[in-house]
Amino acid sequence: MTDLKGKTAVITGSTSGIGLGIAKGMAAAGANIMMNGFGDADKIKTARQSLETHDIKALYHGANMTQPDEIEDLIATAHKEFGSVDILINNAGIQYVAPVEDFPPEKWDAIIAINMSSAFHTIRHALPLMRKSGWGRIINIASAHGLVASPYKSAYVTAKHGILGLTKTIALECAEDNITVNAICPGYVKTPLVEGQIADTAKARGITEDEVINDVLLKAQWTKKFVKIEDLTDLTLFLCSTAAQNMTGGHISIDGGWTAA
Ligand code: NAD
Repeated sequence: MTDLKGKTAVITGSTSGIGLGIAKGMAAAGANIMMNGFGDADKIKTARQSLETHDIKALYHGANMTQPDEIEDLIATAHKEFGSVDILINNAGIQYVAPVEDFPPEKWDAIIAINMSSAFHTIRHALPLMRKSGWGRIINIASAHGLVASPYKSAYVTAKHGILGLTKTIALECAEDNITVNAICPGYVKTPLVEGQIADTAKARGITEDEVINDVLLKAQWTKKFVKIEDLTDLTLFLCSTAAQNMTGGHISIDGGWTAA
């Protein structure tokens, strides 16, 4: 198992779904955790306390990923409280499904800001800290939609393609600094983000929610199974391990064969 004792992981959007799963895995591996995301204060507190049962320190910062100054404060606070930012997981994301001519411009702006630009801001503040300590791991949670498109997801597909470009660029900029930058491209994972999308897609396509699951989502996934949060967590731990020290600038698909077709 990857040993992350003494390291600090900042995980955006870690109050739910994939981000929370990664936080649990990193805490179990010994890393201190800076949680981030929205949600009910009591539930966030409970999640934070459950991370601390792994004998690590977990803090929460409510930075809104649309606000560059709040993102700066997220990274600065992690540095101040823990002394370093060693692992950065850019995970926060939202979705909106509509044909492009009906796509609200404010939804476009929010998706580009949260799913793509926030990673630019976290990276520009965290990278100097990683360079200083001589080690770092940046993992961007992209999507199969970083590689291929689906109709009615113009903003999401654009943002996820963009994050792969950012991943490659930053990997080159810090290639000699013992810092790796990679993207993970999951297929469908049953989280609150996808559950919301099932209803929206049913409406956009005029079909039932069961039809969305079987004929739209899992149609693309050749295994006919949703990807598990635990699989993604294990992959992030692998990317933090010594075995992955020469993997940088890449993307790893974990999509049940979707993008192989
Ligand atoms: P989720 O809805 O369960 O979690 C999203 C997280 O982002 C939550 O913690 C939420 O509070 C946070 N968030 C949303 N807006 C925010 C903002 N403005 N500022 C700060 N935090 C904010 O979703 P998830 O499925 O766990 O998605 C996590 C990531 O994985 C996203 O980037 C998503 O695009 C990606 N992804 C998900 C799937 C999937 O099938 N679920 C597939 C591929 C990629």
